[in-house]
Amino acid sequence: MNELFPIPDCRVERVVCSESTRAVLVVRAERRGAPCPSCSEHSDAPHSTYVRRPADLPTAGCPVQLELHVRRFRCHNARCARRTFSERLLAPSARRTRRLARAQCSVGLTAGAEAGARLLRPWPCRRVPTRSCD
Ligand SMILES: [Zn+2]
Repeated sequence: MNELFPIPDCRVERVVCSESTRAVLVVRAERRGAPCPSCSEHSDAPHSTYVRRPADLPTAGCPVQLELHVRRFRCHNARCARRTFSERLLAPSARRTRRLARAQCSVGLTAGAEAGARLLRPWPCRRVPTRSCD
């Protein structure tokens, strides 16, 4: 599965085609813990998990959404102000992956804003365009 959907430092557990005609990749981090963003001390003491759902690059014409299972860890450094922190799989509050942002920016700069938006408009997964170009 990871060969089809390469996501750095993560494991794709399964792919689900949702009713809204998009592929949802259920993803978890492979690392055993994470460094605290404040003190850099490594921790693998779990606290909790939560789910983030950023958009990713389409695959085979299908819009893709990640279902990232993000872990929170406890920081055991007594001098650190943080008690818990989450692993950094994406930028905080990011709603799309960096590679999708890069691709959208590249198309926008090349084709222009309106043409780029038309080019990037996703096709539904199960519908195939019926009009030909000629
Ligand atoms: Zn810390």
